[in-house]
Amino acid sequence: MKDRKQMLANAGTDTRLCHIGNDPENFYGFVNPPIVRGSTVLFPDAETMESGNQKYTYGTHATPTTDALCAALDELEGSAGTVLVPSGLAAITVPFLAFLSSGDHALIVDSVYFPCRRFCDTMLSRMGVTVEYYDPAVGAGIEALIRPNTKLVHTEAPGSNTFEMQDIDAIAEIAHRHGCVVTMDNTWATPLYYKPLDHGVDISIHAATKYPSGHSDILMGTVSANTETWERLKDANTQLGICGAPEDSYLILRGLRTMGMRLAHHGRSALAVAEWLEARGDVARVLHPALPSFPGHALWKRDFKGASGIFSFVLEAGSADRFKPKARAFLNALSLFGLGYSWGGYESLAVMVGLADRTICKAPPEGPVIRLQIGLENVEDILADLERGFAAAAAV
Ligand SMILES: *Cc1c(COP(=O)(O)O)cnc(C)c1O
Repeated sequence: MKDRKQMLANAGTDTRLCHIGNDPENFYGFVNPPIVRGSTVLFPDAETMESGNQKYTYGTHATPTTDALCAALDELEGSAGTVLVPSGLAAITVPFLAFLSSGDHALIVDSVYFPCRRFCDTMLSRMGVTVEYYDPAVGAGIEALIRPNTKLVHTEAPGSNTFEMQDIDAIAEIAHRHGCVVTMDNTWATPLYYKPLDHGVDISIHAATKYPSGHSDILMGTVSANTETWERLKDANTQLGICGAPEDSYLILRGLRTMGMRLAHHGRSALAVAEWLEARGDVARVLHPALPSFPGHALWKRDFKGASGIFSFVLEAGSADRFKPKARAFLNALSLFGLGYSWGGYESLAVMVGLADRTICKAPPEGPVIRLQIGLENVEDILADLERGFAAAAAV
């Protein structure tokens, strides 16, 4: 056991993905952990029941299956502890509820995942928290926005749909100087391409629904905390009674085993498609952090180990009244790409992005923004499908 831990600590990413989490020796040699379904856990005697001094006490706190996934995520994130929640959105709302109280002020990046903004503008505001959105390019300028009652700075890089980068190191350093907790939605990069806690972030948030699942069949969120924030996060989650389901945990752990290979494939294909799009006259701009033309490229190159498979492009529309009709014609002509939300699965998806909620990172003036999730299909087939879309858009 000790040797195995030592070996894994020094091993490469794909090796670690294959072996982190459970230890087969704990389960009669079976390579995967059992799916333990359970609410009640029995105690051997009244004394143990009173002290609660045994590894498992009740199904909401942990089971061997959820523990295996949490251990794997702690390995990847370098975190002190991880809580599992039933969706990526809950992975944002739970830490916000843990660290914000009535009268507090929170700074949220303007390019944030939209349902996070909806939670802030409705429930969080109703509870007496003041929310302010900031420019993802703010960097060290975040200092001017921090008030005496600012308690939390939420980051997301690249931003949702438009992929703005953020100088996380600079923001975290200043936020900590003022006693704020720093959260980061790291769904795009996964801990394989960016490790938030190594850059000063306190709490790393993931929609495990995306790449860890990888097959568009599970909803789950994970929240991984550093030593300073772990106890409070764990307490809040216990108070709320939110927990991860054993079967979903098992499938996410299974997804992690192949995530390195899948991500590398998604990343390569997506960059090839992005470069192909960038060379076209009917594309105004491609919003992909790994392209040298992208404004946040230098930050991406400085901090990230790779790029995943989702990005956007701006269709050249000519005039505002042709924005939506052109985008609709493009989407309707696709047959390999599905029209649907979410991403991280094996199949390609396209969606017209709505940016009406933004107060700082407004929609580009040249045309509609179309987001592509590049799946594991052959790139030639993906390009042929997009070509059909462009032909239909040109006819509008
Ligand atoms: C999809 C997504 C979420 C939410 O995940 P769900 O499991 O669908 O609730 C959160 N953050 C980002 C950046 C996402 O893309």
